[in-house]
Amino acid sequence: MKTERKSFKGKSLYRPTGKAGEYSAWACNFYTGCSNNCSYCYCKRGVMSHVWSEEPMLKKCFKDSDNAIAVFEKEMLANIDELRKTGIFFSFTTDPMIPGKTLELTMEAVSLALRNDVPVQILTKRADWLDAEVWKTMCATINPDYKKIAIGFTLTRRDDLEPGASPHTERIAAMKRCYELGCHTFASVEPIVDIVNSECAMSDAYPFCELFKVGLMSGGAKPDKHELKALVNKWNSTLDKSGKKIYWKQSVIDYLGDDFTFWMDSCVDSDYNIFSY
Ligand code: SF4
Repeated sequence: MKTERKSFKGKSLYRPTGKAGEYSAWACNFYTGCSNNCSYCYCKRGVMSHVWSEEPMLKKCFKDSDNAIAVFEKEMLANIDELRKTGIFFSFTTDPMIPGKTLELTMEAVSLALRNDVPVQILTKRADWLDAEVWKTMCATINPDYKKIAIGFTLTRRDDLEPGASPHTERIAAMKRCYELGCHTFASVEPIVDIVNSECAMSDAYPFCELFKVGLMSGGAKPDKHELKALVNKWNSTLDKSGKKIYWKQSVIDYLGDDFTFWMDSCVDSDYNIFSY
């Protein structure tokens, strides 16, 4: 059951709507632009294209990173009751975990959120931050409850389309480390570039992944419907009774129409809260 969301749009925090709203109730963007440079990047096109760059740039509404953190803290505290329930998602307009570029500010904000009992969801295509000092320092300094941290990896298994990101195999290894650390883990299997690679990516992640989120390429070529239907049925069945969950994004449901099957024990909707389980 979807719940009505009040709108909020601050400089750092906001309530996403549309496709981004399928991901989280609240999100934080400090940067625009991204050196992962995925060929299918949605930020390169449409409404975000005027601020796109191949290097992350601090958003112009912030004077500097100190100002960005001060704004974040103020906006977080103003919405603290809701944020403690839903958590904050990092980020829709960059990869928030790029060492030396976005990771440092993300860690400052994550540290502040966790110290205020606000859970965080982080989506990345990088694996190298797990060995970065700033991540280790954050963990050592605040000794976080890792169940308040959900780490997601985007998995297409198409390294050729993501030239600046960590290779697929390194992302899987990083997911395993996060899982073993006690973090919640999720996989964003979006976009599906081709069914075979998405299927393999899901199998690779399965032992270490609590939640899969699967969606089609926005405005791109659509997969064969029979193959997609087979993927849906296989993973609904595989996850049934396992305690693991899958969220089929609206793009999949709309494309398959009557051929889409919702399984009560494995499928969740966009309001699913990974921190409640
Ligand atoms: S990781 Fe995300 S924001 Fe960065 S280039 Fe790829 S799709 Fe764009």
